[in-house]
Amino acid sequence: MTTYHSTRSRNESLTSKQAILEGIAQDGGLFVRDDVAAGAPSLEQLLAGTYQDRARLVLGHLLDDFTAEEISTCVEAAYGANFDSKLITPVTPCGQDWTLELWHGPTSAFKDVALQMLPQLMRVSRAGDGRRVMIVTATSGDTGKAALEGFADVEGTGVTVFYPHGKVSDIQRLQMATQRGANVAVCAIEGNFDDAQSEVKRIFADEALRARLAERNVVLSSANSINVGRLVPQVTYYFDAYAQLAAAGALKPGDAIDFCVPTGNFGDVLAGYYAKLMGLPVRTLVVASNANDVLTDFITTGTYDRRRPFHKTISPSMDILVSSNLERLLFYLSDGDCELVSSLMADLAEKGAYTVPPTLLTRLHETFACGRADDAATRETIRAVWDEHHVLLDPHTAVARHVLDARPADGVARVCLSTASPYKFSADVLAALGHDVSGMGGFACMDALSELTGTEPPAALSALRDAEERFDDVVSVSDMNRYAEDSAVRVLA
Ligand SMILES: *Cc1c(COP(=O)(O)O)cnc(C)c1O
Repeated sequence: MTTYHSTRSRNESLTSKQAILEGIAQDGGLFVRDDVAAGAPSLEQLLAGTYQDRARLVLGHLLDDFTAEEISTCVEAAYGANFDSKLITPVTPCGQDWTLELWHGPTSAFKDVALQMLPQLMRVSRAGDGRRVMIVTATSGDTGKAALEGFADVEGTGVTVFYPHGKVSDIQRLQMATQRGANVAVCAIEGNFDDAQSEVKRIFADEALRARLAERNVVLSSANSINVGRLVPQVTYYFDAYAQLAAAGALKPGDAIDFCVPTGNFGDVLAGYYAKLMGLPVRTLVVASNANDVLTDFITTGTYDRRRPFHKTISPSMDILVSSNLERLLFYLSDGDCELVSSLMADLAEKGAYTVPPTLLTRLHETFACGRADDAATRETIRAVWDEHHVLLDPHTAVARHVLDARPADGVARVCLSTASPYKFSADVLAALGHDVSGMGGFACMDALSELTGTEPPAALSALRDAEERFDDVVSVSDMNRYAEDSAVRVLA
């Protein structure tokens, strides 16, 4: 069986089940396994069958302490009628290139692909030791809803989500306030997202709280994107996109392929690198950033420098200055040099910046390219792609599309990852198409966008109009700790 250890040392050695429950290593590093390629299924095996077949092979390989039956029950629960496409992640044409639609899950954003699976993996991982898992998370809008939807009524788990009062969109608030499930809690806080995030970190560090919960057999855990259980499910759709293109005759098995990925925390694009390590013939992974272009600079120069202004953009899920999952890439590109990764991360913590050795930068450039799009370029791309191809893009996807369009095509198949339904960002998309949206609410924008383009919003978003609101709690930041404990006790009682 393969074991996981920290990116920063090899002192701890964990099974994947343990790594999924722990989330982050004791030394602050991220869990990785050394050899991703060894024993991987062949490309031929990975291209046969359905999305679910591929998911079973990918998970079975990367999480090899799960039994085949455990993996099967997880895949069945995660990828079924909860997605509104039989293909789960359909590939559609866009001019000469392709779009991989990752937003057909219950919350209409790509985080569903991982967050429909993570709770299932946690359910299986904790089985046997009798502990129950309480997820506590702060959200600026999208992740919280995807976590709620993934954990709702999953046995032995509970979830509490905090979001900043008055600082999420109408639709995002409704998505959370109407969440079904007996094991969920949703609470607005008086403060901004950073306040919520910082307090959640303090809740995790509160030893007395952990001890009280431990007496009730409850462990606190997080669902954030550094968890191995979120990374691994994302590897599947890279193989699946390739299989769909092979089936459509757009490439032959063995041909190279490029992916362009709208990037924030680097989880999505890192999964593409895992697919490459496992044998998918990926030529280039293009990292697309918005005005928060710390990754563009890093990939260009080898220096990662977070000391820069933070921009609030129309692609908010990419408004990030520290891309946590990049640490895993540094580990692989340095051939597993934990000491180097440790010292780079210490530089980042102490100085706010680090520079990788030239050899590492050279290896980075063998696979990775980059580019950026500010809000003006993003809006222009939404308009141009609609006008030219009648494909409606959300702002995150449009960032990637802009970056891909700036690269010369050379006959290799190119796939742009699409991370959200345009209807999740109706107002910004409508405005990009030239409409005055001032004074319009969330549903009015959805209706106008539908009418203008002749496309339909996802059913789950339309259904919010009639859904009953269950949660209206608002607490101060100083009350979040007590709220988290009370809801853990209540929903896991
Ligand atoms: C989270 C998210 C991203 C960024 O993905 P990472 O894995 O954090 O790089 C991009 N687009 C949307 C819509 C997202 O929700």
